[in-house]
Amino acid sequence: MKNLFSVQDKVIVITGAAGVLGTSMVHHFAEQGAKVVILDRNEEAGRRLEEEVKAEGGEVMFLYTDVLDKQVLEGNYTEIMARYGRIDVLINGAGGNMAGATIAPDKTIFDLDIEAVRKVVDLNLFGIILPTMTFTRAMIEQKQGSIINISSESAIRPLTRVAGYGVAKAAVTNFTKYMCGELATKYGDGLRVNAIAPGFFITEQNRTLLLNPDGSYTERSKTILAHTPYGRFGEPSELLGTLQWLASDASKFVSGTMTVIDGGFDAFSI
Ligand code: NAD
Repeated sequence: MKNLFSVQDKVIVITGAAGVLGTSMVHHFAEQGAKVVILDRNEEAGRRLEEEVKAEGGEVMFLYTDVLDKQVLEGNYTEIMARYGRIDVLINGAGGNMAGATIAPDKTIFDLDIEAVRKVVDLNLFGIILPTMTFTRAMIEQKQGSIINISSESAIRPLTRVAGYGVAKAAVTNFTKYMCGELATKYGDGLRVNAIAPGFFITEQNRTLLLNPDGSYTERSKTILAHTPYGRFGEPSELLGTLQWLASDASKFVSGTMTVIDGGFDAFSI
């Protein structure tokens, strides 16, 4: 019987792939027999990851990108198409909060650094729109493809202190639904767009909010964990099952959805 969840030989392009969550995705999909394209603006981490995966026998290619630069993305598209001739899955993972856009505990919304917030919205929203506009062209030609946007718990419940990040991620959820209709009605039912909303995972972009310099939990971490039925942060590997489902034909009739992966945070009140 055909394995419904197989991603064997699929070309999977991941932006922000050299980050903490992205790295776990790259290793996983390469192990599953996919051809994985690592797109990141961190060249050192991207090349290191490429070497690691190659050493494990995976099919992988690193390309420098900036998800906010259409010209660079066009260059990426040309190189990917020259090497693999198709794109089956796009995971829009580049994103995150930035320290300057976080409201300090003793400050209010009136102290917001608007320029810093603009940068966060740019990265988290336009950093999804631009790669989608670039890489989806291959999927339209193929009449087949799956786009997976990384939204966030903060898209559903505004989290304190990260107003700009939450606003941008809420827009990602909306854009995911918009693109569901746009692609399927104009180009057919082989094209799917979904989002995942991870809860809390300790990575580079939130480390200073969640951990003190000595590695102990901040007060914010303690509040989050008290509100999480599982009582712990997530592990990057705990996103992989959902991503495999969305990347594979197992989710053929699924589009415009957002799957929450958060140890129960969103479902829990007191
Ligand atoms: P991370 O900081 O470890 O990784 C982010 C990666 O994106 C980095 O490798 C960085 O170099 C890359 N990047 C940043 N700007 C870029 C640009 N302009 N062009 C290309 N690459 C760029 O963070 P992460 O937690 O692994 O984040 C992955 C995604 O998951 C983000 O969209 C983040 O918002 C989302 N997310 C994370 C959490 C969490 O708890 N960590 C929760 C919900 C959603």
